[in-house]
Amino acid sequence: MRKLETKTIVVASHNAGKIAEIADLIGPFGFSAKSAKELGFVEPDETGTTFEQNAAIKALASAKASGLPALSDDSGLVIDALGGAPGVYTANWAEREDGSRDFPWAMEKVEKALQDKGATLPENRGARFVSVLCLAWPDGHTEFFRGEVDGTIIWPPRGTSGFGYDPIFQPKGYTSSFGEMTAEEKHGWKPSDADALSHRARAFKIFVETCLDA
Ligand code: IMP
Repeated sequence: MRKLETKTIVVASHNAGKIAEIADLIGPFGFSAKSAKELGFVEPDETGTTFEQNAAIKALASAKASGLPALSDDSGLVIDALGGAPGVYTANWAEREDGSRDFPWAMEKVEKALQDKGATLPENRGARFVSVLCLAWPDGHTEFFRGEVDGTIIWPPRGTSGFGYDPIFQPKGYTSSFGEMTAEEKHGWKPSDADALSHRARAFKIFVETCLDA
């Protein structure tokens, strides 16, 4: 496992919601971080079929373009009744023909797919959010950290916080959706706490424990 020796990194993302969450998570560690979006890097095509492959494509593109270590996140919603869909294609499900992303429409698609499967009871609507973080160096070395959180797909959507599919995901053991939680509640994580809640915060905790001398 290679340690991260610098506090200057690139956040290899063009997704404003993710960039904000990663900024929150790395904030307490004193990183100076710019996103691939701010640096004007071209968004690479996510041609992989696993979260790990797509996370590596993004992190390596930013590390090579910047000459700095780069941290990416590839994530998605894995729904049991849909055989794991939308999975690595979670972002694609929200893509309109003009390339824009429409999450209210994507959440309706998820609900329709569940209805078509007859998955109306909470026990048939099990799902999990997965986040794979990849830390890549300009020499091509990569490290991966995976976080998952189990929950249920709810309908109608609840809450306006967070981003993406947050309003239809209720983590196991909670009565609020991610869309009804503050960022702090969704991460469920502070440097001093033992636990983390969101998939991204769980993956980030493993990154901190293995790659930082925190
Ligand atoms: P990608 O990792 O850029 O391929 O896209 C991940 C997709 O999953 C995006 O459409 C996000 O909106 C969605 N997603 C990932 N993490 C979260 C989350 O924490 N809340 C809501 N949606 C998420």
